[in-house]
Amino acid sequence: MENLVVRRVGKKGMGVFSNKPFKKGQMILRINTRDRITKKNESKMTNYDWNHVNAWGCKKYYRMKPPEKFINHSCNPNSFDKGGLLYAMKRIKKGDEVTLDYSIGGVEDWKMVCKCGGGNCRKIVRGKFLLLPEKLQKKYRPYLEEWYIEKVLKKGRNIHGSPRKRQK
Ligand SMILES: [Zn+2]
Repeated sequence: MENLVVRRVGKKGMGVFSNKPFKKGQMILRINTRDRITKKNESKMTNYDWNHVNAWGCKKYYRMKPPEKFINHSCNPNSFDKGGLLYAMKRIKKGDEVTLDYSIGGVEDWKMVCKCGGGNCRKIVRGKFLLLPEKLQKKYRPYLEEWYIEKVLKKGRNIHGSPRKRQK
């Protein structure tokens, strides 16, 4: 049995739904990260392609494949991806839509209108993780990739997005 199923969700287009229950922290899916975007194939990328990429390093991307490419954003997500694996961030029931917060570990400054309908919906979702409210950055800290922590957070910026105070 497949763990996930892709189907249409009203105005949002496609969405991904769980086909069985998952416990918090349980692995949901091994993500296909092989279709890397390189200098060679970059010029052939369409806008649609760029809307369905995921990072595998700082400003390095791969083209996502189904079903993961159809996972919608939510400001109250129930999954996260780390090291090419998708995990449940909280308990997921069979039939729940599986969602990600696209801002986790983001380095590019894009904007997207969000209609996730959650009480904590940010309405305008921005790509850069460091533009998230401090509280949310702290909450999401465990879900960041190692490269993000090493290359972005530890390079003179703390998780609050302000320059580190100089030690005397
Ligand atoms: Zn939202």
